[in-house]
Formats: sequence, C-alpha cells, structure tokens
Amino acid sequence: MESRLERDDPPAEPLRFVADAMLGRLATWLRILGYDVEYSRGEDAALIERARASGRILLTRDTGIVRRRNAPPNLFVRSDHVSEQLRQVVQAFRLAPADPSRRRCPRCNVVVEARTKAEVFGRVPEFVWSRQDAFWGCPACGRLYWAGTHRRGMDAMIRAAIT
Ligand SMILES: [Zn+2]
Repeated sequence: MESRLERDDPPAEPLRFVADAMLGRLATWLRILGYDVEYSRGEDAALIERARASGRILLTRDTGIVRRRNAPPNLFVRSDHVSEQLRQVVQAFRLAPADPSRRRCPRCNVVVEARTKAEVFGRVPEFVWSRQDAFWGCPACGRLYWAGTHRRGMDAMIRAAIT
C-alpha cells in the first residue's frame, strides 16, 4: 500500500480539537498557538458527538470517555497542570506555533485580523502604541492584541512545551 503523504509534504489541514470542561486553560493556550479549539462543558455524549461530527480530536481528562467503544480520536491528558498539558499535546501531535496571522483570540477561538497602528490609536495603552508596530483584533469580541500581549508567559510556555 502506498503512503498518501510523502514525508516532506506539509500537513493538509491543521488539526482541530475539542477540549472537555476540565481543559479550559489548555484550550486558551492552544488558541494562542494558532489552533482551532472548541471548549465544551457539555455531557460526555455531546462531547463525543461534537468531536465526531466536526472531525475534531477530543482532548479529555476523563478516562471514562477514552474507554468508550464509540470514542472519537482522542488524547487523554495526564496532568492537572496547564504547562504540562500543553507540553503533552504539542509533543503528541508535533504542533508548531502558527504564524501570527493565524493566531486565534484566546477567548473566542476566532482568527484575529491585522489592525493598523492608526486603527488602534487611543484603544491600547500609549506605551504599547508607541513601541509596537503590529496589532491584531478579534472580529468577535473586539479585543486587541500585539506582539507583547502574551509574550512573557507565552514564550516561556512555548519553550517548555516544545523543548
Ligand atoms: Zn475574541
């Protein structure tokens, strides 16, 4: 049988996920990395159905779901700590941080859009406006982001997850 993907081919579609109710913070971090992650507080059955219907990988802390015969593709997340959770998911799926243009609003899971310096004038702190040149806005909630928004925590988290 021939392999459909040569080793050097880029992945056809970025992976998408649905995270269970225990994994809200993990969902936030994966969105910052640029991945499409739904967060569901629903019942097990609804979570399974959602993952199946949307072709998403289920991230769960619930061994009961993982053991079910009808479980969708899933990853059992071992740790209670978000930094270790992120590390496990990044390593399991070999995720790389997305280009900034593909990053998602950590609250809404919507891809952010570039904003000009003029557009954000008066809407971000002045010291930020004067030092940053690249800004993004969430089309859903209107929040603005810039390179430094998550930088400190983010760099450390990403380093910890990838190395
Ligand atoms: Zn938003």
